[in-house]
Amino acid sequence: MSLLVVGSVAFDAIETPFGKADRTLGGAASYFALAASLFTPVRVVAIVGEDFTEKEQAVFRGRPIDLSGLQRAPGKTFFWAGRYSQNMNERTTLATELNVFADFQPTLPVTYQNSSNVFLGNIDPSLQRSVLRQIRRKTKIVGLDTMNYWIERTPAELRETLKHTHILMINDEETRQLTGEHNLLRAAKHVFRMGPRTLVVKRGEHGALMIHDNFMFSVPAFPLEEVHDPTGAGDSFAGGFMGYLAAAGRINEQTLRRAMVYGSVVGSFTVERFGLDRLAKLKRREIESRARRFWKLTSFQL
Ligand code: AMP
Repeated sequence: MSLLVVGSVAFDAIETPFGKADRTLGGAASYFALAASLFTPVRVVAIVGEDFTEKEQAVFRGRPIDLSGLQRAPGKTFFWAGRYSQNMNERTTLATELNVFADFQPTLPVTYQNSSNVFLGNIDPSLQRSVLRQIRRKTKIVGLDTMNYWIERTPAELRETLKHTHILMINDEETRQLTGEHNLLRAAKHVFRMGPRTLVVKRGEHGALMIHDNFMFSVPAFPLEEVHDPTGAGDSFAGGFMGYLAAAGRINEQTLRRAMVYGSVVGSFTVERFGLDRLAKLKRREIESRARRFWKLTSFQL
């Protein structure tokens, strides 16, 4: 089942208490694509500059990741720099250099136009909408991520795109900001009126909470002794979640619950190493083995 993702491909500079990386390949679409490709073929729509070479492209090789929608433009690739606090709960953005991302106009190759599952990564909501407009069949699952910047600056465009979204995946702060509700259950009702029938609230080290219009499901973050770099955890979660759902081919309570577990499992691998390092080496059998440990971690009898 084809899964299309639109989002950033970036070079990241990351500092955590465990070390630093000056220039490592990142971006939401990179994390998402590698994560989702462990479950289903992925089509990437993004933009890079001349500094994105064969070496960077090699990270995606050997996985069912189609890069024919990866545009190349004169100039530099999007650059982001961030530093984490000692306990890694806070992140300060040190630099955001849009570079070629500033003029990004997503264009779908003809071969992408039949994509039935779509993940709209965190970009301008009007660009997210333009991706949906280019798809020539009825979509099955549309997931969407966004951030405070778009919630504040382009609320009307975001609302329009949300009308065409099935699953909204954002963090708790963004949920409160979008809805004006502090309580997440009340916030979810607000979200349902905007379009999506499922809200997934990503809560970092506290895991994730899914609120569907008639059930709820909560997963913890998998307990790890060492977290080296939280960058991309949310995008990897989204990739595992959407990848599993696209492979399952249908949305129901069972598949949504499993998607939450797979999202959390894949996110837990990402944070074990810097940047994309762990995700790039991850094997499906490692995912299944951790999913079983996850089941033991969370099951109990009544
Ligand atoms: P996460 O840790 O899941 O929030 O995602 C981190 C990734 O998002 C990094 O690899 C960055 O390159 C990318 N990123 C940071 N800021 C932005 C932005 N404004 N738009 C798109 N991608 C971004």
